[in-house]
Amino acid sequence: MKVYFDNASTTQIHPKVFEAMLPYLKDNFGNASSIHSYGRKARVAIEDARELIADFIGAIPSEIYFTSGGTEAINFIINGIAKTNFSETGKNELLTTPIEHKAVLDTHFDLAENGFKPKLIEVNNDGSFNPSSLIENISYDTSLVSIMYTNNELGTINNIHEIPQYLSDDQYLFCDAVQAFGKIDIDVNKLNVHALSGSAHKIYGPKGIGFAFVKSGTPISPLLFGGSQERNRRGGTENIAAIVGLAEAVNIIEKEMGDNYKKVTALNSYFKESVFQIFGDKIEINGGSNTSPYILSFTFKGEYFKNDGEALLMGLDINGIAASQGSACTSGTIKPSHVILRTGKNIDDANGTLRFSFNPNNINAEIDYVISVLEKIGKQNLRVWFKFKS
Ligand code: PLP
Repeated sequence: MKVYFDNASTTQIHPKVFEAMLPYLKDNFGNASSIHSYGRKARVAIEDARELIADFIGAIPSEIYFTSGGTEAINFIINGIAKTNFSETGKNELLTTPIEHKAVLDTHFDLAENGFKPKLIEVNNDGSFNPSSLIENISYDTSLVSIMYTNNELGTINNIHEIPQYLSDDQYLFCDAVQAFGKIDIDVNKLNVHALSGSAHKIYGPKGIGFAFVKSGTPISPLLFGGSQERNRRGGTENIAAIVGLAEAVNIIEKEMGDNYKKVTALNSYFKESVFQIFGDKIEINGGSNTSPYILSFTFKGEYFKNDGEALLMGLDINGIAASQGSACTSGTIKPSHVILRTGKNIDDANGTLRFSFNPNNINAEIDYVISVLEKIGKQNLRVWFKFKS
């Protein structure tokens, strides 16, 4: 049996998305900057897509910038706002949490090399940001606060709408919504954010395409220079097929989001119940009460799996199961997850942590299978462990 429970890493493209993209890889190959009919067709496709995405999150079309994915949107937003706001107001402090995606953290580290002052807001053990720590860290020099919506490893959802009350007019709020986009309702007006990032491949769209929402009036400079595309803020010939793919993914998810949410909530509860039935107090579920049902992270305690995450993951893989032991973007290098380590757990715990992430087409029988494989791997590991100890 093959089971794919790694949908927070990426999802399989929806057949309708694939179909929608094909004409733009074949006959409609025009460059959207050309004024002839080929170019015009491409331009119309891009602007229709922009309108659809803007509408989906309560923005206006000119506030949407297409990028090569979530990572680029994040780099564009943080660099662009930090640098422009600094030149306008002299503010140089950047607040974020230690459990953001690496795209956010590494952009901050890079800006630190260039005179900016990143400060880390504390997080609670459930992975939510600590409001008192946010308030303590905001100062006159604060320029930008970057806090994610749904954490990609734990599924924890942050109360983003509570943040703006602490910021003044020339202090900006960015929310990385890559794991929330298309899964929970996003209204940029209700959230009151200045910028937000989203990505297509987490919602059955193609890889290599995403968007940045930047509220009009927000100071922001380009990341990529060289062309007047995307209102001079992102040079480069647009990837029309991918943009059309993103739009089709949004078009589908807009209709199915509510049902999808119910389906994955049921899957998540079934998984939790089943895993508790077999492993009882040998596991601890991560994330708190406000967690996305799309992600289930738990930690095997103590000696049960010898906290050998790699063996655990390989054991699952050999049995046809795709899961994750941290975020896929960092799991190429086998390091304990920075997210798990910052939420009150040690290296052994981090190694014994698994993340299962769902799509609405997953079924309970797949969960039964995964639990039976986990049980099998656990028994094997225990035998090795006892032999090793005696
Ligand atoms: N932010 C979060 C929370 C993510 O989970 C990811 C991808 O895993 C990204 C950003 C990066 O998005 P992309 O893969 O589109 O570059």
